Amino acid sequence: MNFIILLLIVFAITTIHAKVQCGSGVGNCNFGLCCSKNGKCGVGNSYCGSGCQKKYGVCYPTFPLFPVYPIFPFFPTTTTKKKTTTKTTTTTKTTTSTTTTTKSTTTISNTPVSTPIEVFHECLNDNHWALTFDDGPYIYDEALLDYLKSKNVKATFFINGNTYLNIRSDQGRRIVKRLYEEGHTIASHTYNHIDLTAHTIEEIIEEITQLEIALKEIIGVKPTFIRPPYGRGAYEDPIPQVLESLGYTGIIMWNVDPADWENLGDTDYAIAEMKKVVDNGGPLIIVNHNRYDNMTQESLLNSAKAEIEYMESNGYTAVPMSECIGRNPYK
Ligand SMILES: [Zn+2]
Repeated sequence: MNFIILLLIVFAITTIHAKVQCGSGVGNCNFGLCCSKNGKCGVGNSYCGSGCQKKYGVCYPTFPLFPVYPIFPFFPTTTTKKKTTTKTTTTTKTTTSTTTTTKSTTTISNTPVSTPIEVFHECLNDNHWALTFDDGPYIYDEALLDYLKSKNVKATFFINGNTYLNIRSDQGRRIVKRLYEEGHTIASHTYNHIDLTAHTIEEIIEEITQLEIALKEIIGVKPTFIRPPYGRGAYEDPIPQVLESLGYTGIIMWNVDPADWENLGDTDYAIAEMKKVVDNGGPLIIVNHNRYDNMTQESLLNSAKAEIEYMESNGYTAVPMSECIGRNPYK
């Protein structure tokens, strides 16, 4: 049934405001349309078959009845900016995740978003830095929130639904509410901390929407920023397109990795890594964690304190992700 509705939506968009032409210097076709070899937008074999220009629309290998791809509106991949800043790899971390507890009742978003998705490794303003934390909520977060409040620092939390502390537990709910009410940006890190590159599109959508359902219950909004677990998939088609089709506008990476989960929050190492960016006068996004093996509340607070004080002494302003990249954090 949902499939038929999707077909109707695609057809409606095709007929109501479809862009007629496409190609180099002309642009991309609207959502769900193919760009033919002659630079015309449409559906059917003459558009989507031989000679179809994938760069400017969608293409289907065959077109017997209706393709599978229009379920996920494929937007131009050229909007995903590939920056040349330091790429960081976090590949050895292990997490224990449990399976999703409830079934999604949310259908796939079929509405094209107005803001194209982009990958960010740093803030837009040279004077800004974004303090970010992954894998929460976790039991030490309330102490961290107290500290951030005392410093008037707004951070960004890429949270899971059920990794270390279930978001629907009393403490999970309390933490998430506080994050939101105290002006920090809440963003997605998937429900079960999955590697997006190792799952099907359907599984990715399930993971994203499960977390959205929980956040909608708890704080009444859904995020538009996401950090892929393990930092994997930001540039791998079709992951950015799938995320964009779900209304995400920012894939947030980082340009400083203090490797807190590996070195138990070694602040000297963190400062040395930050210094590399600060010495060049550029903006900064740093990735910390709300939980790692053998973490203590003290190690979490020590890291935050050292990083905040170092950036303060260098004249930077700490900003939540919404301000860092100038985009609305919620939908
Ligand atoms: Zn993570």
